[in-house]
Amino acid sequence: MSDSTPRFTGGCLCGAVRYEATAAPIYAGYCFCTDCRKASGSGFVPFMGFAASALRFSGKTLMFSSKAARGGYAIRNSCPVCGSLVYGGEVGKHQEHTIYAGTLDDPKGFHPTVALFNRDRPDWVVLPEGLKVFEEMPP
Ligand SMILES: [Zn+2]
Repeated sequence: MSDSTPRFTGGCLCGAVRYEATAAPIYAGYCFCTDCRKASGSGFVPFMGFAASALRFSGKTLMFSSKAARGGYAIRNSCPVCGSLVYGGEVGKHQEHTIYAGTLDDPKGFHPTVALFNRDRPDWVVLPEGLKVFEEMPP
């Protein structure tokens, strides 16, 4: 690995669940969908997408599956010890994972470019400037 390889590390509040990404994110943004709001207890989920091959995970997670807007199921992984929501997708099964950017060790590594499900965004969440905004999922 050269010094210029992007590297992102993060994990849950207690440290039992950890991850490392060694690639630039494929996409990064905010999701305002109702499921993300409920799952996070916040106004949105800040996410970064990585290829599974660029990620290493450690620690057991609590996997929760819910019906996805696009059909199929969305899997969310949280720490069974401290409850932090850390990443999406099933390790060993999915080709891509979303990391919940609030779990980064250095949150400055998150550079959102898109906003998804803006139609569900509560009035009390201000949309940052400069994002490409989709009312639902991008086509
Ligand atoms: Zn934890």
